[in-house]
Amino acid sequence: SGKFFVGGNWKCNGTKDSISKLVSDLNNAKLEADVDVVVAPPFVYIDQVKNSLTDRIEISAQNSWVGKGGAFTGEISVEQLNDIGCKWVILGHSERRHIIGEDDQFIGKKAAYALSQNLKVIACIGEKLEEREAGKTFDVCFQQMKAFAEHVPGWDDVVIAYEPVWAIGTGKVATPQQAQEVHVAVRDWLKKNVSEEVASKTRIIYGGSVNGSNCAELAKQEDIDGFLVGGASLKGPEFATIVNSVT
Ligand code: 13P
Repeated sequence: SGKFFVGGNWKCNGTKDSISKLVSDLNNAKLEADVDVVVAPPFVYIDQVKNSLTDRIEISAQNSWVGKGGAFTGEISVEQLNDIGCKWVILGHSERRHIIGEDDQFIGKKAAYALSQNLKVIACIGEKLEEREAGKTFDVCFQQMKAFAEHVPGWDDVVIAYEPVWAIGTGKVATPQQAQEVHVAVRDWLKKNVSEEVASKTRIIYGGSVNGSNCAELAKQEDIDGFLVGGASLKGPEFATIVNSVT
């Protein structure tokens, strides 16, 4: 459902030099036309990327402040992201939930504020290994969905990223069946709790150890509408392979 969407989350990686090389590889890559492609550089390099990367690829931030900017030392406001031409923001990433300690309500409010200022949102959800092993995968994902749903004014500018925590940066990708099962459940949750229309239109992308070799099988799954890629997005040609896995 919806156009295939591939995001590259560069996380806290890169230097001016390595990013300049990555941008040039992306500029030279052949990317399927029918895919939305977005990259999320670290804040300090967004301007460099914006000024050198092809307009074919949109820019995302990896975080944003929960309200209007002001006396919030170390934060970056949605207004500033709009000012430098950033179109998207990743919110609720597991590294911010579990390492930095952001909670569901805070993340929901951030999403609402970003959307209110016309910044599009990549809304991340996903269970930890112990939650999966305890049979709580759906409960955890639904709880995180509920917090988004309670705050966001609408879903037109939201892409949902299902990223099981145990698959992130571990090389342990979810099987296509495991991912598909959760995507279906999340779509079903949207149908029951938001609307049938939102359920069918909203893109649900998968993240967690996606690479150039495993993307094709995942992309074949009916409810996988794209990917959010970490490590493999730091390599231009491999990221292009993932973009081009659209079926
Ligand atoms: P990896 O692709 O490195 O597992 O990271 C996934 C991720 O967290 C994307 O946001």
